[in-house]
Amino acid sequence: MGVSTPDISIPDDLLPHDGRFGCGPSKVRPDAVDMLIGSAPHFLGTSHRQATVRFKVSELRNGLAELFSLPDGYEILLGNGGTTAFWDAATFCLIDERSQHLDFGEFSSKFAKAAAAAPHIGTPEIISTDPGHHPLAVPMAGIDAYCLTHNETSTGVAMSIERPHGADDGSLVLVDATSAAGGLRFDPSELDVYYFAPQKCLASDGGLWIAACSPAAIERIERIAAGDRWVPSFLDLGIALENSRKDQTYNTPALTTLFLATEQVQWILDNGGLEFAAGRCDRSAATIYGWADAHEHATPFVAEEEMRSHVVATIDFDDDTDAAAVAAVLRDNGILDTEPYRKLGRNQLRVALFPAIDPEDVAALTRCIDFVIEQLS
Ligand SMILES: *Cc1c(COP(=O)(O)O)cnc(C)c1O
Repeated sequence: MGVSTPDISIPDDLLPHDGRFGCGPSKVRPDAVDMLIGSAPHFLGTSHRQATVRFKVSELRNGLAELFSLPDGYEILLGNGGTTAFWDAATFCLIDERSQHLDFGEFSSKFAKAAAAAPHIGTPEIISTDPGHHPLAVPMAGIDAYCLTHNETSTGVAMSIERPHGADDGSLVLVDATSAAGGLRFDPSELDVYYFAPQKCLASDGGLWIAACSPAAIERIERIAAGDRWVPSFLDLGIALENSRKDQTYNTPALTTLFLATEQVQWILDNGGLEFAAGRCDRSAATIYGWADAHEHATPFVAEEEMRSHVVATIDFDDDTDAAAVAAVLRDNGILDTEPYRKLGRNQLRVALFPAIDPEDVAALTRCIDFVIEQLS
């Protein structure tokens, strides 16, 4: 702040076609916006209790079940408030007595804090690592909910999702997949709740939470709803379950968010499904990490290759390079939101590699960064 951005103009032929590289809200495909405009007169501004909007919700729920290859009995629930609201809903309606949390960044720590603050459940077991790595779940007697994060958006660390072997029978695996859902591969039989918000890989807007729930998770929700635990209605997953089964939400949703999320799911399915989307992310990841590995001034922040996220890349720079200045120059040239996660406090750029982002544009971005570094030195 207060330091003016160097006046550097990136040549047009280096620029990406689309300059949006933010980790959320993230790039919305222009085609989806055109579809929204086309549908607007009979969709926007109409009742979410009537057939048109309910059909859109059903398309979204069915599309996600297909995208994730959900086994029989898994159901898609949705409600308002985004992932942050879902954490509170989960402390009320999914954690029975005691949860275990893997804390390896800002987002994973927030759910752990929400559980630690909740007076109606026991003190959670929190397993932490330094940012840049992820811990593993440790099976423990008395833990009924293992809380994992598929992709820690603040650091660019991804983990593969597996049930902890030797966990108590009936314990659930809850996975925050906010920046992973629709971009990273996973096996739904290894988890019970895969929850997210659609402003990341689903190229939509914020404000909604979506959760793919296993039969065991549904049973837990129904049992807690039938018990005597006080639960605010807005966070009551029993109420969300009833409404979702009718292709509705408990209160009014943002119709634009529903529409754009459905468009993105359909676009991925039309192009070959999760393998197509994950394949695009793989290509973008190979480009940016390959570039950083070979770079004189840059290195991938996440040292272990298998922990490097294919949906969010974090790239550290050496002391000769001021990453904040690079991000500011990029911004002046229409390349947006490459700043790092603020609380991580590193000399770093963070770049979303979500499926809507063209791998060619990621390659163009690396050339733009090289140009800016060259001009700054
Ligand atoms: C963005 C994000 C969140 C927060 O989502 P909101 O919809 O803003 O509440 C939570 N977890 C992860 C992993 C995220 O990337």
